[in-house]
Amino acid sequence: AKSEGRGTYRFFEARLGMQVRDRRMLEHDLRHAVARGEMQLVYQPQTDVQSGAVLGFEVLLRWHHSDRGAVPPSLFIPIAEESGAILQIGEWVLREACREAATWTNPLSVAVNVSAVQVHASHFVQLVHEVLFQTGLKPERLEIEITETALIRDPGRAQSTLRQLKALGLRIAMDDFGTGYSSLSNLRTYPFDKIKIDGSFVRSVDENEQTKAIVRSVLGLGRGLGLPVLAEGVETEAELAFLMSESCQSAQGYLMGKPAPIDQFSAHTTGVNAA
Ligand code: C2E
Ligand code: CA
Ligand code: CA
Ligand code: CA
Repeated sequence: AKSEGRGTYRFFEARLGMQVRDRRMLEHDLRHAVARGEMQLVYQPQTDVQSGAVLGFEVLLRWHHSDRGAVPPSLFIPIAEESGAILQIGEWVLREACREAATWTNPLSVAVNVSAVQVHASHFVQLVHEVLFQTGLKPERLEIEITETALIRDPGRAQSTLRQLKALGLRIAMDDFGTGYSSLSNLRTYPFDKIKIDGSFVRSVDENEQTKAIVRSVLGLGRGLGLPVLAEGVETEAELAFLMSESCQSAQGYLMGKPAPIDQFSAHTTGVNAA
C-alpha cells in the first residue's frame, strides 16, 4: 500500500507538472490569439418560445489554436480571467459583436458574455459606451450576460457598474441562473432585465418532476419580478413543449440552432420583417 501510495503521488506530481506547463503555454498563447487571428465568434439564436421567431443571438467565443486545434471556452476562459488576458479578448469580442450586429438590416439583439474581471475593471462602462458609439449599434440592441458569481467579488462596485451600463440603454441578463449562490438576493441587489435558466435544469425538465418544479418556480419568480426568462440548453421538442405550456418567454439551444458563424443565419439578419 505504501509503494502504491508513493507511485500514485509520483504520478500525480508528474501530471500536475504537465498541467502547470500546459497552462503556462496556453496562458502565453492566449495573449497573442487575437492578433494571430485565432479567435472567432459564433452566434446562437435566441427565439420566442410561443412563435418560434428569432429575437437575437448570443455570441460565443471560439479559439482555433495553431497546433492544438479547437480549445473549449470552459478551458481557456478561466485561464484568460486569471491571467487578465480576458480584458483584451473581451474587448475584441464586444467590438466584433457590435460591429457585426450593426450591419444587420433586422434589428435583432446581440448578447455578449462579460466576465467578472471585465465588470470590475476600471473604464469598462466607458469602453462599452465607446464601442456603441464607434459601431453605431443602438444600445437597446445590446444585451450583456453576467453570471452572478461574477458579482460577488465587489458587490458595491458591481452594482454601480451595472447601473451605469443600464444608463447607456443596454440590457443585462443574469446568466446560468440557479447554479450560483444567493441568486434570490442578487435579483434584488442588481438591476437585471432578464433571467437565463441554466441548461442543466432545462435538459432534464421532461424526465424529472423536481426539475419541472424548479423551472416552474423560476418562471413564477420572473413573472413576479417582471423579468422575462430565457431557458438555455433546449435540446428536445419535449423540453420546448414544457416551456411553452409554462409560458416561458424565450429559449436557446441546439433544438433551435447550434452556435455557428453568422453567415449561416443571414436569412434572419437580413430583411426588415422583424419587429
Ligand atoms: P454560457 O454563457 O452559459 O453559454 C452557453 C453554452 O452552452 C455554450 O457553450 C453553448 O455552446 C452551449 N449550448 C448552447 N445550447 C446548448 C444545448 O442545447 N445543449 C448543450 N449541451 N449545450 C448548449 P460554449 O460555447 O462552450 O461556452 C461555454 C462557456 O464559456 C459559456 O457558457 C460562457 O460562460 C463562456 N464563454 C463563451 N464565450 C465567451 C465570451 O466571449 N466571453 C466570456 N467571458 N465567456 C464566454
Ligand atoms: Ca451566456
Ligand atoms: Ca449560461
Ligand atoms: Ca431532456
